[in-house]
Parts: sequence; structure tokens; C-alpha cells
Amino acid sequence: MPRIVLLISLALLTPLMGSCQGHGEGEVMRQGASVNQNMPALTWKDVIHFAEKGSPPPDRRVVMSDTEWRQQLSPEEFRITRLKGTERAFTGQYCESHAPGVYACRCCGTELFDSREKFESGTGWPSFTQPVRDNVVKYEKDTSFGMVRVEILCNVCDAHLGHVFPDGPGPGGLRFCTNSASLVRTGE
Ligand code: FE
Repeated sequence: MPRIVLLISLALLTPLMGSCQGHGEGEVMRQGASVNQNMPALTWKDVIHFAEKGSPPPDRRVVMSDTEWRQQLSPEEFRITRLKGTERAFTGQYCESHAPGVYACRCCGTELFDSREKFESGTGWPSFTQPVRDNVVKYEKDTSFGMVRVEILCNVCDAHLGHVFPDGPGPGGLRFCTNSASLVRTGE
């Protein structure tokens, strides 16, 4: 697909294009020990740029075979994180939980989202406005199921996290729609 077409198609993405839908509300602050407080809020323009050019390089890479991943993940976690599955709405462990903590990658433990960036989206999936740093999430255009969406993955181990949409409530206007099975919350 020509680059200009990709840009236009990504720019025209609407919240109606994903299985994760709905709008959230709430104040959003970038703070916490694991969050780079000096980082400006990511915007949809940044997401498109990262989807095309790649995110900033991660601090490390974790590469394991499917056999090795199966040994440390439940069948459901493996299906979602390694096979790009989606958990049923309103069934995930963190769907409606707003306890404080940091959400790390279920597969490799990389810190991805801060609970202070979590908001009630009403979608049935844990939703965040920002990742803790630019280089922890990878963005890839996803044309599966006849839709054009932007998939989000762990930038360290390539675990499927969910999708990102341009209808979030924060200053950057993003909604990171994730699967609980892709995350593990740790205490502050
Ligand atoms: Fe990971």
C-alpha cells in the first residue's frame, strides 16, 4: 500500500472500527516512579509515526520459542499474548479494577502502564491513556477481520497487548485497549 494511502487510512480510523469500543472519561496525570514525567503525552500522530517507523528501541529484548512460552503461560495467556487472541469483554481480571500499581507484560515483566493512566472506558477491557515510556510499546498496523486498526505489542518480547484508538480522554487523546491476560499488576 502506498505510504500516503496508509497515512490517510490510519488518520481516518474511528472508534467504531475496533472490537474495543466506547469512550472514557476522567482526569489523566503522568506521574509515578516508573513514568517519565517529562515525556509529553503521546498523540495519534505519534502512534502513526511509530507504526510506520518503529518505536524507540527497547532497553532489552526477550526472545523465546513458543514451546518455552507455553511452559510459563496458561493456555489462555498463550492464546492471547503469543497468538494475538482477545479475551471476552468484561471477563478479564483487571477489567474493572482500579487498584494502584504498575501493569507489566505478562510474558516478560516489562512495566507497560501505570494505574494512574487507567480509566473506565466501559468497553470491558482494561484501558489506559499512555504507556509508561515511549519505548515499551510497539505499534503495528492490523488489517485482520476486515478492519484497519493499530495493534499494540510489548516492545521487548512482542506479546500481543490489544489495540490503540484515537478516542481516549487524556491530553494525547489515546485509548490503549488491552487484554487483562496480557498484563500482570504489581504493587507500587
Ligand atoms: Fe513483554
